[in-house]
Amino acid sequence: MKCPQENKKSIFNVLRGIVVHIFAGAIIGYFVLHPVSMYIIYDFEHRNMSFFQVLMMSFSRHHLMMAMYFALLGIVFGVLYGIYSYRITRLLDRVNTLAVTDSLTGVCNRRYFFEQLSIELERSRRYNHKTHILMIDIDDFKDYNDQHGHQQGDRMLREFAQQIKQQIRSTDMLARYGGEEFVVIMPESETEQAVHLAERLRIQIETFMRTHSQSHEQLFTISAGIAGFPDHGRDVDALLRRADIALYNAKKAGKNTICVSGQEPISVATIS
Ligand code: GH3
Ligand code: MG
Ligand code: MG
Repeated sequence: MKCPQENKKSIFNVLRGIVVHIFAGAIIGYFVLHPVSMYIIYDFEHRNMSFFQVLMMSFSRHHLMMAMYFALLGIVFGVLYGIYSYRITRLLDRVNTLAVTDSLTGVCNRRYFFEQLSIELERSRRYNHKTHILMIDIDDFKDYNDQHGHQQGDRMLREFAQQIKQQIRSTDMLARYGGEEFVVIMPESETEQAVHLAERLRIQIETFMRTHSQSHEQLFTISAGIAGFPDHGRDVDALLRRADIALYNAKKAGKNTICVSGQEPISVATIS
């Protein structure tokens, strides 16, 4: 499940759009604008010409030049309309993307997470699937910020989001729930798979911090709470509540820990 991204048009699509607008503009100018204008003029002057007769004038040598001018006018309007609609489409695309994206990390935002989770639960209910959510919180991030400053903290949040993204399946969805808390939706998953992913993420962050930090630096780890549909909750609120309680239990157990709702915390903290 991907967070909707801005649709970048390829140069081929842009060129194709330009050709289509030029062509459509020329046709409309020649076969519509010209006969309609002629019809209005002739109707006022003679009142005895049918539109078909006026249309046929576009093919007469006498009116060819005039029809060509109208075709040119059509092309100009066609291209202007093309540029305008391209810009509007890009703008709407951008607005749609911004509405569902977290501006700091580029992953999905909380709003989109709620939308997708309720869709996923509906699907799970219909097809009798299990769906799990992971609520992940960075341990002692306040201390990390205090030591390194907020800018480095922001950089780390971006890096952290990328690390998680690399580990999840393409059908999973990662969102920033708020602050230094992230959530992953795992559709069609068993509890063991959710635990496995959470553990993999925990170890990945632990290893990353070890290899990318200097010895005197404040390191951080993560803790995660896991809850699944339908075992721990049947709707969005219940599931989030259970995942939150599991996360709280993981923190209480010493942090750098994973906890499944209703079970004992399961990870062994190894970072020092
Ligand atoms: P715990 O292990 O209990 O989760 O401790 P914690 O320090 O991580 O949690 P706490 O809730 O006390 O503090 C969260 C910190 O996360 C506080 C704030 O400075 C930091 N934070 C939240 N959002 C952002 C952000 O967007 N950028 C940065 N740099 N820091 C953030
Ligand atoms: Mg925290
Ligand atoms: Mg927190």
